[in-house]
Amino acid sequence: MLNLSYDAVIIGAGAAGSMCAIAAAKRGRKVMLIDHSKKFGEKIRISGGGKCNFTNTHCGPDNFISSNPRFCISALNQYTKRDFIDLIESQNIPYHEKKLGQLFCDRSAKDILVLLKDLASKYKVDISLAEKIIDVKKVESGFKITTTDKKITSQALVIASGGLSIPKIGATKFGYAIAQSFNHRIIKPRPGLVPLTFENNLLDHCKHLSGLSLCAEVTFEKTSFREGLLFTHRGLSGPVILQISSYWQEAKSLNIDLLPEYNIEKFLREKKSTQNSQNIQTILSDILPKRLVKEICSETNISGSLANISNTELQTLGDRINHWQVTPTGTEGYRTAEVTVGGVNTRELSSKTMESNLQPGLYFVGEVLDVTGHLGGHNFQWAWSSGWVAGQNI
Ligand SMILES: Cc1cc2nc3c(=O)[nH]c(=O)nc-3n(C[C@H](O)[C@H](O)[C@H](O)COP(=O)(O)OP(=O)(O)OC[C@H]3O[C@@H](n4cnc5c(N)ncnc54)[C@H](O)[C@@H]3O)c2cc1C
Repeated sequence: MLNLSYDAVIIGAGAAGSMCAIAAAKRGRKVMLIDHSKKFGEKIRISGGGKCNFTNTHCGPDNFISSNPRFCISALNQYTKRDFIDLIESQNIPYHEKKLGQLFCDRSAKDILVLLKDLASKYKVDISLAEKIIDVKKVESGFKITTTDKKITSQALVIASGGLSIPKIGATKFGYAIAQSFNHRIIKPRPGLVPLTFENNLLDHCKHLSGLSLCAEVTFEKTSFREGLLFTHRGLSGPVILQISSYWQEAKSLNIDLLPEYNIEKFLREKKSTQNSQNIQTILSDILPKRLVKEICSETNISGSLANISNTELQTLGDRINHWQVTPTGTEGYRTAEVTVGGVNTRELSSKTMESNLQPGLYFVGEVLDVTGHLGGHNFQWAWSSGWVAGQNI
């Protein structure tokens, strides 16, 4: 059994933990970064379809979900998206904006992994992978962390063990259990940025439209997103569904506007008064994909020329296109979720340092916290910002 002593031990070698370790070691702190996984930063490697959407040029507090919405502001201001972009540029990593401010690596997410590994090595961070943590205790000098082959004492302990998404690459409840053992409260975790599941009637409808995509506005209660919606054999998918999934609550319905730039009922009434000999499918096909129009007209049983279609039927079509009510049956769960919504309650932490208000020397960073970003690089920015901030204070 090895006996070791550090200024700080960081548990979780993902985005937040590695940023924290690098920032602290750069300040001259003696740091150990531990992960039970054999691989460093596995989630970074698989992120953004292998190209890591590492930040977003529009990233700000409004891009985060939390029961304490102002908590993220200080960290995002202390280590900004520009700071991370500067880091990427300083290493000549080529990147591009895909859309909506989302920045991706040109080549591969491995560029980010290499960057983090090189910096960890430059500042002499000790990294211990495939290391199982057996016990964590508060002692007078700080914390005692026992692993299968080490007893480590450390002044500071940083929990960067992430959320529950994708258990097959190492996600565990570890961070929540440690938080609770120090009397921290947990905001109930649930899968976010996750495909929703649908009942059979809707699946049949979607199967006919499989492969079709359009820009739709999806609303849950007071939250709306306008982005790509994709019909697939498994139901509705695409960025707009992932975004709203982080807000959706079981048994409640979503409102989908398939053509947000148009008020369909008004548009059709106007057409009826000027071109009433036109066929409804022809008119709608000018502004919506033909396959979708055919499916909606057959489902609502409305066809023929506008002259023969009643105003009530025009309203039915308007509702079906602008106010399609859909009730998901559930989500695909943590197996495919990109993030976990909920986590360690931030009301018991300092937003300026990420330190626990209940246990001095204990810090939480990254996704383990009840701070969840929208799709588009915000979750990594939170990992970089919160990790860096803790790294300045341990
Ligand atoms: C498929 C996918 C694609 C994504 N793409 C993007 C994207 O392009 N852009 C974006 O912003 N976000 C993306 N995300 C979300 C983003 O990856 C996470 O929000 C981010 O990685 C969280 O960083 P973290 O360091 O807090 O946690 P993680 O990266 O999850 O790291 C936590 C680490 O802790 C370790 N750990 C867990 N339990 C223990 C334990 N008991 N003992 C020791 N170690 C432990 C884990 O092995 C892991 O290495 C994606 C997520 C997924 C799943």
